[in-house]
Amino acid sequence: METKKLLEDSASYLMHTYNRFPVVLKKGRGVKVWSWEGKEYLDFVGGVATNCLGHCHPKVVVAVQKQVQRLIHVSNFYHIEPQIRLAKMLVTHSFADKVFFCNSGAEANEAAIKLARRYFKEHVGQNKFEVIATLNSFHGRTLATLTATGQDKFKVGFDPLLPGIRHVEFDNIDALKNAITNDTCAVLLEPLQGEGGVRIPDAEYLRQVRKLCDDHNILLILDEVQTGIGRTGKLFAYEHFGMAPDIMTLAKGLGGGVPIGALLATDKVAEAFQPGTHGSTFGGNPLACAAALATLDVVLEDGFVLDQCKRMGKYFRKRLEDLKKDFPDIVADIRGMGLLIGMELLRDGAPVVKACLERGMLINCTAGNVLRFMPPLIVTEKEIDSLIDVLEQVFDALA
Ligand SMILES: *Cc1c(COP(=O)(O)O)cnc(C)c1O
Repeated sequence: METKKLLEDSASYLMHTYNRFPVVLKKGRGVKVWSWEGKEYLDFVGGVATNCLGHCHPKVVVAVQKQVQRLIHVSNFYHIEPQIRLAKMLVTHSFADKVFFCNSGAEANEAAIKLARRYFKEHVGQNKFEVIATLNSFHGRTLATLTATGQDKFKVGFDPLLPGIRHVEFDNIDALKNAITNDTCAVLLEPLQGEGGVRIPDAEYLRQVRKLCDDHNILLILDEVQTGIGRTGKLFAYEHFGMAPDIMTLAKGLGGGVPIGALLATDKVAEAFQPGTHGSTFGGNPLACAAALATLDVVLEDGFVLDQCKRMGKYFRKRLEDLKKDFPDIVADIRGMGLLIGMELLRDGAPVVKACLERGMLINCTAGNVLRFMPPLIVTEKEIDSLIDVLEQVFDALA
């Protein structure tokens, strides 16, 4: 079938929830993807921070192939080895003692809110239910996580939203302190805001939030759906800040591109979920767990991937800083951690994204004017250089 016909059928049969670019992608290897007609692109979107090892990493491919021949799915009425091993691996490498598996970031955050409420009501015996989230945040599209998301543009037409979720300014400890009441059960935060424009809090902020939660006996939920699995140069972003949450959610990078989400918690909190309290038919499915096990194996192997992420993140930011110096009328700010990097523009980002696409570079723009780069953690200097050359051409044409 030709691209033109595929695009027509796409418009005919898919709900129009995305303004997709007029490109049909067919295959990928590493940082490269190819369109239906064979045009080559470098992928700096990485499935929105999902393809942490690039496209079709051989170890993930083999793990999925082996698993798909053995067992694709059984229900959670039975034990399966890949799910047990994956939980053990996540617990070994994090603050957490227990894991619950689901299928997406929104589901993981939904479960986190349920766990926090249930912990106080059933486990502690206090009627605390209110969750404090932050403005500009993104937590997902289900009704609870949409309510928790601190951006009004996503909420239009979906009233009434969930009661018991309030918002305060991100990176403002006093605003959070003033918002806590006797009803507050949890604070829900991204360690750094991704979708909201790659916003990095003050180095002390998360530690202050931790202390505030301890002082008021409330739970701290960190949404590491975007920042987890090496994206910031450590396995989890909270490790940069010298603190740990009570509950953490993961999804995007966890399966190396295969859908899987996870809710992690300390034993004390996790005990609030007992048989019958929460569940997911597909959660922790053998195929998804096999993909996640292979992904984590590679990410943790000899520290190579995390090192590469740190080094390339530094190099990438330096090259972007140089561009900022050359184009002070176009570029306002560069910020990021590891390979989650934002370039704030003094103008709308959409035309830049489009011009880059035409020149074989996939990039993302969020919050209207922030170019967000989330390449696979295995990206090389040469690939970064190719993108910088294209950005330079595009900015030249704009200037
Ligand atoms: C993407 C994202 C989500 C939602 O994940 P889905 O898998 O799309 O449901 C939640 N939180 C953060 C921080 C995200 O970046």
